[in-house]
Amino acid sequence: MEFRDLQRQYQYLKEEIDGAISQVLQSGRFISGSVVRELEEALAQYVGCRHCISCGNGTDALELALRALDIGPGDAVFVPDFTFFASGEVVSTVGALPVFVDVEPDTYNISAPALKAAVSAVAAQGKYRPGAVIAVDLFGQPAEYGRICQVTKEYGMYLIEDGAQGFGGRIGDKSACSFGDISTTSFFPAKPLGCYGDGGAVFTDNDSWNQKIRSLCVHGKSSQGKYDNIQIGMNSRLDSIQAAILKVKLAAFRDKEIEQVNKFAEIYTQGLKGLVGVPHILSGYKSSWAQYTIRLDCQEERAKLQEELGRRGIPVMIYYWKPMHEQQAFAGGNCQSGRNQNTVRLCETVLSLPLSPYMLQEECDEVIDNIHEILTETRI
Ligand SMILES: *Cc1c(COP(=O)(O)O)cnc(C)c1O
Repeated sequence: MEFRDLQRQYQYLKEEIDGAISQVLQSGRFISGSVVRELEEALAQYVGCRHCISCGNGTDALELALRALDIGPGDAVFVPDFTFFASGEVVSTVGALPVFVDVEPDTYNISAPALKAAVSAVAAQGKYRPGAVIAVDLFGQPAEYGRICQVTKEYGMYLIEDGAQGFGGRIGDKSACSFGDISTTSFFPAKPLGCYGDGGAVFTDNDSWNQKIRSLCVHGKSSQGKYDNIQIGMNSRLDSIQAAILKVKLAAFRDKEIEQVNKFAEIYTQGLKGLVGVPHILSGYKSSWAQYTIRLDCQEERAKLQEELGRRGIPVMIYYWKPMHEQQAFAGGNCQSGRNQNTVRLCETVLSLPLSPYMLQEECDEVIDNIHEILTETRI
């Protein structure tokens, strides 16, 4: 069994993907070009945003968002303490101060009351200006944007949605990657919509941010082209081959995979609730299930389950075992943080299970049965 079965997806889409790659090879156009533009249009339409700017990866996408909003030295940026490192790393990259905020224990996403407390403390301190919130759609479920927006509005802050894991999620009839002033995603192979290398995208409705980001990701070019440079930028573009692959994969994602992965997540939830902590999807929300992450009673129980599942050929992963505020990179005053007890506890007890749209029902059942067996033995 694979943790995330990308080979099976390739076998299923092989003919179309091979054809799309071959077309790019024959065109001789490997950076930008019409296939990249077509993908951006399809992504913008799927998400329901005016603009989609593709770029090199999800980390660059976040940096581009911060730079478009002129976030830098003197600004505090509020980031969940429980997330992938890149969500906070980019804040330091642009010279701002990351402030790590606790998350909710069952959705794993940033806690709105904890956010409000953290912002008001920084504002009262007066040393940093509360500049932006980077909310993360962790494991595929959108963050609580309604409640988060109340805080960003009150303090005049920007909202950035880190939708690297959230692409395909929804709140009501609104899609993930449309909730921020600027939103971002990643096409790293194992993300909900992945390519065959690195890739990312930025989404916004704002015309001038769109223009600025399109310039920043090609060396700060002017509208005259890349040999006329009006600002210091980056080199962050999506390869044409990756765009061609993503066009094929986006259609499969939209037409089939998002439903399939939700079906398997529901089987896990029905099979495991009561035995372990299962992810809580808020009413009206839909997850794209970047991960299916359970919670055990304690660190020892998780270690036992992880080891025993591994021995039985069932691959599992721990996302994430270290809070952001404990990362050495942020030591020595490079971040601010509360004690964030929910985050600390999650880091000790979470375990992510194998999941993919091309999984078989038997595989899902096998994981559930083995967890029941192992925990029944260890809990006697
Ligand atoms: C993967 C990920 C990123 C970074 O994306 P890359 O394409 O790997 O640079 C950022 N934030 C979160 C939450 C992620 O999971």
